[in-house]
Amino acid sequence: MPVDSSRLEGFYKLSVSERREKLAEIAGLTPEQVEAWSSSGELSEDAADRMIENVVGTYSLPIGIATNFVIDGEHYLIPFVLEEPSVVAAASNMAKRCHAKGGFTSNNDEPVMIGQIQIVGCEDPEAARGSIMAAKAELVDSCNEVDPILVKFGGGCRDIRARIIETESGPMVIVHILVDCRDAMGANAVNTMAETIAPKVEEITGGTVILRIISNLAVHRLARVSAVFTPAEMVNSGDVGQGSDVIDGVLQAYHFAKADPFRATTHNKGIMNAISPIAIACGQDWRAIESGAHSFAAHERTYGSLTHWEKDSEGNLVGSIELPMAVGLVGGAVRVHPAAQANVALLGISSANGLAKVMAAAGLAQNLGALRALATVGIQAGHMKLHVRNMAVTAGAEGEEVDIVAARMRAHDGRITQKAVEEELAKLRSE
Ligand code: NAD
Repeated sequence: MPVDSSRLEGFYKLSVSERREKLAEIAGLTPEQVEAWSSSGELSEDAADRMIENVVGTYSLPIGIATNFVIDGEHYLIPFVLEEPSVVAAASNMAKRCHAKGGFTSNNDEPVMIGQIQIVGCEDPEAARGSIMAAKAELVDSCNEVDPILVKFGGGCRDIRARIIETESGPMVIVHILVDCRDAMGANAVNTMAETIAPKVEEITGGTVILRIISNLAVHRLARVSAVFTPAEMVNSGDVGQGSDVIDGVLQAYHFAKADPFRATTHNKGIMNAISPIAIACGQDWRAIESGAHSFAAHERTYGSLTHWEKDSEGNLVGSIELPMAVGLVGGAVRVHPAAQANVALLGISSANGLAKVMAAAGLAQNLGALRALATVGIQAGHMKLHVRNMAVTAGAEGEEVDIVAARMRAHDGRITQKAVEEELAKLRSE
């Protein structure tokens, strides 16, 4: 039952433990539930309390390491933070299957983000657009004066563009500032620049500036990764004929996603199964990445696949992925969260571009994992085998019982259902 009131006056003034006590009282929580919040693991309560507002505790998820990734000739161990079984296993499995042709290859854009400035009330929108373009050099300089550190690191405002859009509130002139954010995700940097030049933009156009904010549709900051999978690598037996059949199945599954947004949405969800968990593991703004990915999947086309799959003249499967990747190693949570720092250290990356290519490669591998499973045994076989440990815990299994019940269920011929897991646990306990 929800609480009687969500109005918690003065809640923000309490200490973290006082907030927990207050919630326990009003929501009737058990001491175990309150304790779960207070076991803060690697993120201290003080650090958590500084990160967001009204903190009552922290929330743990497993960190799993995806193996076998070779990207641009270098090996990576990739941390995933997520709750879903079989994702890490599938990514690791697929990453191994492109080794014969050298692993993944990246070709990312420069880290250029877009800041938008919305101008309304221009008497002559076309003339206003023209005057913005005429003042481009001056506006670029004004942007760069605000962030000398970014400029020092080789970034800064690169270009200014302007267009007119028709809206229900009338025509608007929309200015895009294109900012190379180097190793920052860039939202704060870009927003600051957009706010700084807004008065000058009003002066130049005679209009009124309303919004000044980054766009998460980061079409100038695309991560691109590709890989080649031989037929022999697509099957465990190494049988090339069987491998070719699997490749044909993968292509049919991909063509389905390409032609149908209902399927493409789930297809892209599978890609984000890798990208979002790595984003979380590395302290990134995963909502920014998610929104950018899905809007890019519908950018100037019907919503479709973020990956592309085809067969080359030798019968190999060639996969590629292209999507916006607004990630950073300075700013945001990455410098504040100790586990994010450890995860970035494990990756051994020192640039935002390095993280972007790792995330894109993992997204491509994850996509192949789903397509290959769907086109062959179906997705549930592998998933349920790994999920069965969770089902054993749900059935009440404790300690060793969890693995014994899971192993017995995996050996079963029949479907793995919660009821069957409960029966197996009861049987074990009666032995
Ligand atoms: P930030 O401002 O903390 O860090 C960026 C700054 O670090 C740069 O402006 C630069 O001055 C400095 N810097 C030092 N070394 C650098 C280097 N090597 N490369 C680049 N810059 C360097 O953070 P940010 O990346 O501008 O903003 C990210 C934060 O903004 C995230 O926490 C995100 O959640 C948040 N945010 C996102 C949105 C959105 O996505 N729509 C909106 C608002 C805020």
